[in-house]
Amino acid sequence: MSGNPLEAPEFPDWPQYGDEERVGLIRALEQGQWWRMGGGEVDAFEREFAEYHGSEHALAVTNGTHALELALQVLGVGAGTEVVVPAFTFISSSQAAQRLGAVAVPVDVDPDTYAIDPAAVEAAITPRTRAIMPVHMAGHFADMDALAKLSADSGVPLIQDAAHAHGARWQGKKVGELGSIAAFSFQNGKLMTAGEGGAVLFPDAESRRTAFLRHSCGRPPTDRHYFHQTSGSNFRMNEFSAAVLRAQLGRFDRQIDTREQRWPLLAGQLAQIPGVVPQSRDERNDRVPHYMAMFRLPGITEERRNAVVDALVARGLPAFAGFRAIYRTPGFWETGAPDETVDDIARRCPNSEAISGDTVWLHHRTLLGAEEQVGRIADIVADVLATT
Ligand SMILES: *Cc1c(COP(=O)(O)O)cnc(C)c1O
Repeated sequence: MSGNPLEAPEFPDWPQYGDEERVGLIRALEQGQWWRMGGGEVDAFEREFAEYHGSEHALAVTNGTHALELALQVLGVGAGTEVVVPAFTFISSSQAAQRLGAVAVPVDVDPDTYAIDPAAVEAAITPRTRAIMPVHMAGHFADMDALAKLSADSGVPLIQDAAHAHGARWQGKKVGELGSIAAFSFQNGKLMTAGEGGAVLFPDAESRRTAFLRHSCGRPPTDRHYFHQTSGSNFRMNEFSAAVLRAQLGRFDRQIDTREQRWPLLAGQLAQIPGVVPQSRDERNDRVPHYMAMFRLPGITEERRNAVVDALVARGLPAFAGFRAIYRTPGFWETGAPDETVDDIARRCPNSEAISGDTVWLHHRTLLGAEEQVGRIADIVADVLATT
């Protein structure tokens, strides 16, 4: 650990692994079958991951972006349809819809929780809207009560982008108990990881069956005669990834417990620094896994925010700038953008405009260390803000 109080302590490494992952990898290797069509690891992981989230129908896939794409396809998203997404999110939320030929319609988020604003969603629904995609930012649920009501009233299904929300609970309910499809990521930085990977939870067996076909080139599991029942692609997870993820699931609850203990301490200390506003928690979240430790620096210019992030990194903190509003990236406009200008969208998304320019986030491993490290983080943030 560094002796200088204004330099970061050594946080735990990420990803974390141990004998469980090692044993799992060897087990997968020695099966002699390295894909899901012959091995047992992917099947077992799907059962365990589903059960952990209060669901019966999980499908493991190649990554979180494909998980969203597959889920949207099962909901009938394609050319001529629209998907409502938050303007402040990682780009996969919109890219998945755009890859299917649909239009991604960005709407504003809440300034305190950074979650999609149900009133903005309602205003964006048209006869072409085929899905509403809340993103559970940093593991905090979007307002699932208001969104469920909106979904029931409008007949437009929800698809949860749960790439940050493994193990989260909303009013006693797990992600798989909320009645809608949920898509997860197991990319290297995510809360559970095999380097890459993804999963989808379905509320019913039929949609999972359809998704299975589409994730395996439209081919039923027992097919021997190349009878492809649907269009599709190859989004199958391999056996090694599943073996690692089964081990990751085994250490997951302990990690959430630690982060759930550390974040309130850190948020409390950050809130005392002038100009710092930590992400707030809607109290209906009764378990937050904390994919990111996020805070805003309201009123700061984007340029200075970026300088603050650089200074935090120079002190040894794994700090990052918040996501750029999706409509401010060139990629968003290549295909499937709404018939509006950047300025039109910016005008109706003032919170996303502000948040994307003034948020900072810290990697979740900063919440996995000793309790005493939390105070060091806050001291560094205060000092960097005073000197940058
Ligand atoms: C990481 C992430 C994804 C995509 O997951 P990949 O596994 O990297 O493809 C989707 N949505 C959000 C909000 C994410 O943070």
